[in-house]
Amino acid sequence: MKRASNKSVFIQVAVDRYVDKLFDYSVPLDMVDSVKIGMRVLIDFRRKKIYGLVISKSNTTDVPSNKIKPILSVDKEILFFDKNMLKLGIWISQYYCAPLGMVLKNIIPTQIRTLKKKFLNCEQEGEEKLDSYLPPVPHHLNKDQLDALNEILNTINNREYNTFLLYGVTGSGKTEVYLRSIEHAKAKGKQAIVIVPEISLTPQMIEIFETRFDDVAVFHSRLTPKKRRLYWLGMKRGKYNVVIGARSAVFAPFENLGLIIVDEEHERTYKQGEIPFYNARDVAVMRGKMSGACVVLGSATPSLESYSNCEKGKYKLLELPFRVDKKELPKVEIIDMNHEIKKSKGKNAVFSAFLLEEIEKRIKIGEQCILFLNRRGYSTFVCCKKCGFVMKCEHCSIALTFHKSFSALKCHRCDYSTNLPKVCPECKDGEMKKAGTGTEKVEKQLKKIFPEADIARMDTDITKKKGSYEEILGNFRRGKIDVLVGTQMIAKGLDISNVTLVGIIAADIALNLPDFRAGEYTFQLITQVSGRAGRGALKGNVILQTFSPELPVINFAAKQDYIAFYKVEKEFRMELKYPPQQRFINICFRGENEVELARFVQNYCMKLKVILSSAGAGFKGPIPSPIKKINRFYRWNMIVMTKNILSIASILNRCAFQDDSGRNQVVVDVDPLSLL
Ligand code: ADP
Ligand code: ZN
Repeated sequence: MKRASNKSVFIQVAVDRYVDKLFDYSVPLDMVDSVKIGMRVLIDFRRKKIYGLVISKSNTTDVPSNKIKPILSVDKEILFFDKNMLKLGIWISQYYCAPLGMVLKNIIPTQIRTLKKKFLNCEQEGEEKLDSYLPPVPHHLNKDQLDALNEILNTINNREYNTFLLYGVTGSGKTEVYLRSIEHAKAKGKQAIVIVPEISLTPQMIEIFETRFDDVAVFHSRLTPKKRRLYWLGMKRGKYNVVIGARSAVFAPFENLGLIIVDEEHERTYKQGEIPFYNARDVAVMRGKMSGACVVLGSATPSLESYSNCEKGKYKLLELPFRVDKKELPKVEIIDMNHEIKKSKGKNAVFSAFLLEEIEKRIKIGEQCILFLNRRGYSTFVCCKKCGFVMKCEHCSIALTFHKSFSALKCHRCDYSTNLPKVCPECKDGEMKKAGTGTEKVEKQLKKIFPEADIARMDTDITKKKGSYEEILGNFRRGKIDVLVGTQMIAKGLDISNVTLVGIIAADIALNLPDFRAGEYTFQLITQVSGRAGRGALKGNVILQTFSPELPVINFAAKQDYIAFYKVEKEFRMELKYPPQQRFINICFRGENEVELARFVQNYCMKLKVILSSAGAGFKGPIPSPIKKINRFYRWNMIVMTKNILSIASILNRCAFQDDSGRNQVVVDVDPLSLL
């Protein structure tokens, strides 16, 4: 290590590139006093001038003096992150085994860190008038809401950390509790973050917050770059003190945080699907801990992890066991589709007779229906009538979905698409048959059965078109649509009082996934989507179609009995030592050459097991992933089981994440939500 003269100052810089290192630069004498941690500096990086963020400052460096380069300039106008945020970033980096530079890329989006200097300088930019807004009329809270609220307010008053799990059935008025908590935090001079799953960030939801508060920033993926910039800088400068947003809003640049709310805390969308594989719910809890803020996790179907944290005393349970105004939960009828198919001699595979009758009734009296099927496309696979060959993606080991509107077969994992062949490409003889049902087919068939009705569909194929999402939701809210068919996009957040029927086309789809959480996901989805019915003055009904009507999970979901489900599910997890009994780390291997990858995996795991078992970890695998290949890359998984993630992570953080050739990669997913 080189100890330079007293005056030399070196900084470590994070750059916005996919590299797993921080870089050392020297600071010219005239800038030494200005440069601070969290500032942006201009540097010469691989012969390009780019921005970097200052992570640390010191008088020493490992880089030889003839190699080290000076920074070119520093922007003093703004600290992109404060000490607390850096601490959070370091924790994420260690816990999720991800390079700090890449974590910071998530905390400060590229667009923000590369802002033109004129925006950093300008305090007043975008000072458009905020609403002349109407003071809302808040509800009188009921006793359960008040009890829950008081606990939260106490924590905010004491300016201490505490995590609450607000377990309230669908329509129990959780949102009102959130709103009051935020009002209170603001009155105490504190700032508040609300994160919701991207798909429940509906215009309706945003409107509720914007009419209640005059300083709300909104953060989601559909924002224009200008809006994103205004909101981010506005939060930084205290113009906005509340943010409602998707996963990344957990990194809102508030320096005086008092409250973080995570709505639908069990949602899988809080987990990022790439490095760093963080879960925004867990990051929220850690951020609350580090900044002495109150954290509220809300759900009608809490994750096993969160509910068991209440049992362990880590979180405090708050309950809203009834719908507001004593409204009943919707009545759920289970329809055995095996019967239906027999009755109709194999014809009626999509709709049961009862479901069609009930839809017809609603259409006649002007009430609305939601039909839920968590599969987009027309037919979920296409096969040869003669030899049974199934059309698969060229790059992934999954079946192709037929989309009628594009008249093409598409892969739902990569971009691959191809025409539907007339004759089987395998036996060159048989005719191709479309099989399985997706939302597109449900919509088409329904339009045929009810030609007079207004039927619309909502899934990612439709909402890719700009504005269509808002348009469909708007039309549905205004009663212009009789039946809305959709994927999980319509399962959450919708609060439309005229919806009196929810049809679940195939309740058991997710149950067939090779995933130990399949039961939990199925329970959550059924409960959530059922919760869309009967939220107003009118009673709601749910029709649940299934091929496995005897399964406990289907019956618990039909009764919306979370506690009964939790007990049985926890028992099963305990027996197998699955989460939340222990934690999982999924070590994922990727490589384009199947044989080479398999060899690499065996070698790597043999060594890794020796090191990790001395630290008390257990293992499953390595085995090829249930989806063997995605986007040309073969995949293997090894699950590490432990009770102490940080100690295992500290070992993993020292391992190489690729082989010498660089052709085979290792990706570490801590607390994985998908093992596919
Ligand atoms: P959840 O988020 O628990 O599903 P919401 O917060 O959406 O439930 O509340 C359901 C409906 O009840 C909303 O339309 C809301 O405005 C209304 N609501 C909430 N609290 C009360 C209350 N105390 N009295 C009457 N209506 C309420
Ligand atoms: Zn593919």
